[in-house]
Amino acid sequence: MSLEVGYDVPATVGMTLEEVETPCLLLDLDALEDNLRQMAAFVADAGITLRPHGKMHKSADVAKLQAEIGGATGLCCQKVSEATAFVRAGITDVLVTNEVREAAKISRLARLASEAQVGVCVDDLTNVAELSVAASAFGVTLDCLVEVECGSRRCGVASPEAAVEVARAISEAPGLRFRGVQSYNGAMQHIADPAERRTTFDDSYAVTRVAVDALKAAGLPPQVVSGGGTGSYEYEAKSGLFTELQCGSYAFMDADYGRVRNAGGGRLDLQWGNALYVLASVMSAPTFGRAVCDAGHKSVAIDSGLPVPKDLPQVKYVSASDEHGTLDDPGGSLKVGDRVWLVPGHCDPTCNLHDWYVGVRGGVVETVWPVTARGKAW
Ligand SMILES: *Cc1c(COP(=O)(O)O)cnc(C)c1O
Repeated sequence: MSLEVGYDVPATVGMTLEEVETPCLLLDLDALEDNLRQMAAFVADAGITLRPHGKMHKSADVAKLQAEIGGATGLCCQKVSEATAFVRAGITDVLVTNEVREAAKISRLARLASEAQVGVCVDDLTNVAELSVAASAFGVTLDCLVEVECGSRRCGVASPEAAVEVARAISEAPGLRFRGVQSYNGAMQHIADPAERRTTFDDSYAVTRVAVDALKAAGLPPQVVSGGGTGSYEYEAKSGLFTELQCGSYAFMDADYGRVRNAGGGRLDLQWGNALYVLASVMSAPTFGRAVCDAGHKSVAIDSGLPVPKDLPQVKYVSASDEHGTLDDPGGSLKVGDRVWLVPGHCDPTCNLHDWYVGVRGGVVETVWPVTARGKAW
């Protein structure tokens, strides 16, 4: 069955950018590949492994590219259904960086471990027992990381004693293998000032270090200490504590990360090229100074700020409704039919709004990739 452009897909391979239907997700393939190679070089140099976060792109094609040229040795997911989508699309090593608590989900997670290497986070003894029963029923081994809460007030054990208790239970439970620790402070990633972020990092991971030391002292040394995101990976890499990075956004970037400074004080969006855009079209320019495009908040996430138009310093995206984006255009430069490349405020939820990525190089569509795990929130 052939896909109908404009109904099933926004574009086909070989189209020029002018022919692509909008609004759609656009990937600048050169920028994406540069980012993946840069991270591959960074982790090789730092002597640390990379398990990029797939919740950001939800794309098996991007995940495969991360393995081929990006130095990745596995993939992170956030949900069981997301992990399943990736495994069905050929990814062989997934870590669910989250607790899984419902019986049906635990059962699906264990079943998935008969098809791929599967890991999961744990912060409670009851969960150890639940996971062990399911893994034994399916005759599989689930890799378990004890999650250590380190300042973001999300999941994770709250004391080194609890970390040891949960790790010991995992190591004694049939069907489970104690692999180590996950510790991740999400809020810290977006602190724009590097000195302030560094201080938060030091406070956060002092907690993780105490837990890791307690595990070593208890004869349960973690083989893996996993964490880190696009805002903090330089710190994790040099910490001597972490063995694995979980960065996600570095591959695509977004306007919010664009405001963050790297450890050396440089702009993060100059270090990591922006690879993700929502391509929009001007559909009305009703009066001088105002243009309206076809990408509202059903096409571009606005939880971390409004999108920023690329290469149009005078133009500002000022408000989003469902299907309209209002642009302030004080110079009156935009006319109906003009294309606007919007840098989303937040890449992860933007990708989840679309079915397809349109990959472009040199103004021509080179790939059309499905957003494999779109909507897989279970
Ligand atoms: C989202 C997430 C990441 C990746 O963060 P980025 O800021 O996108 O690099 C890493 N680890 C966990 C547990 C996450 O939830």
